[in-house]
Amino acid sequence: MSEPPTFAVPPSFLGLPSDPNAAICVAGIPLDIGVTNRSGARFGPSAIRQASRMLVDGDHPFHWVDPRQLSLADIGDFAIALGDIPKSLALIEEQASRVDHLVALGGEHGITLPLLRALAKKRGPPALVHFDAHVDTWPENFGQIYAHGSVFYHAIEEDLIDPRRTVQIGIRSPVARNIYDWTLARGVTIITAQDVHEAGPADIAQRIRAGVGDAPVYLSFDIDALDPAFAPGTGTPEIGGLSSWQAQAIIRRLTGLNFVGMDVVEVAPAYDVAEITALAGATIAWEYLCLLARTQNATAKVKEPG
Ligand code: MN
Ligand code: MN
Repeated sequence: MSEPPTFAVPPSFLGLPSDPNAAICVAGIPLDIGVTNRSGARFGPSAIRQASRMLVDGDHPFHWVDPRQLSLADIGDFAIALGDIPKSLALIEEQASRVDHLVALGGEHGITLPLLRALAKKRGPPALVHFDAHVDTWPENFGQIYAHGSVFYHAIEEDLIDPRRTVQIGIRSPVARNIYDWTLARGVTIITAQDVHEAGPADIAQRIRAGVGDAPVYLSFDIDALDPAFAPGTGTPEIGGLSSWQAQAIIRRLTGLNFVGMDVVEVAPAYDVAEITALAGATIAWEYLCLLARTQNATAKVKEPG
């Protein structure tokens, strides 16, 4: 029997079955009550899943892998507490702690804090590769402590990540100078969107690799790292951002890093046009899974006798 056409694939991520025992689990986290501008990222997981069906009809054309070769499942959406940020963060952490390697579909960026709390308890603080228009190191946003723009302030203060092995890419929003300087003083490497445009993806990938070294590394991809032309469906767009090809060209060069989890956040479908943003989000998660599949293949080859 032939495979169904892409549009008829079940609307899980890549049409994957649900299996909580899979080595790598995709989960949606529909939380968006800590956003500061346009809300709507609660509908991100379903839109990303829907768009991911464009990615099920062949191998990755650079790595030559299909991520479905991995032990991989879509375990559905995490439970959250409606209207209650602290309770939602506790719930997300508890559910994430049961997954060995999580690929989270947001939701707003605030979900990354409980994901890092769960990860750091299990493995210690990882290095971080963080794509975003915003540094997200504000101590609070408009009086809300755990909003989407304070996630990495808390992650650093709670020792959930190693700031000296943290690299931010795509930064360009207005920001108070003391927030920016605090971030640099903690040891974070900031690569602005302008740096990306002027340097090119190979150089940027090299700087990321140098920044994280061989530590376990977490990838957090805020879709507003992309320019609004490539990702209009998001809550806090900033012009001058990365094109989708630039993000792809950088991520494809991160082969062999010791990745321990990732998220793609801030996809807000109500502001999207023709699924541009949802497809970008789905493709970034797929690129990450292809990196894992390629690393797995390389490891398998090393283990072959002779
Ligand atoms: Mn952002
Ligand atoms: Mn963010």
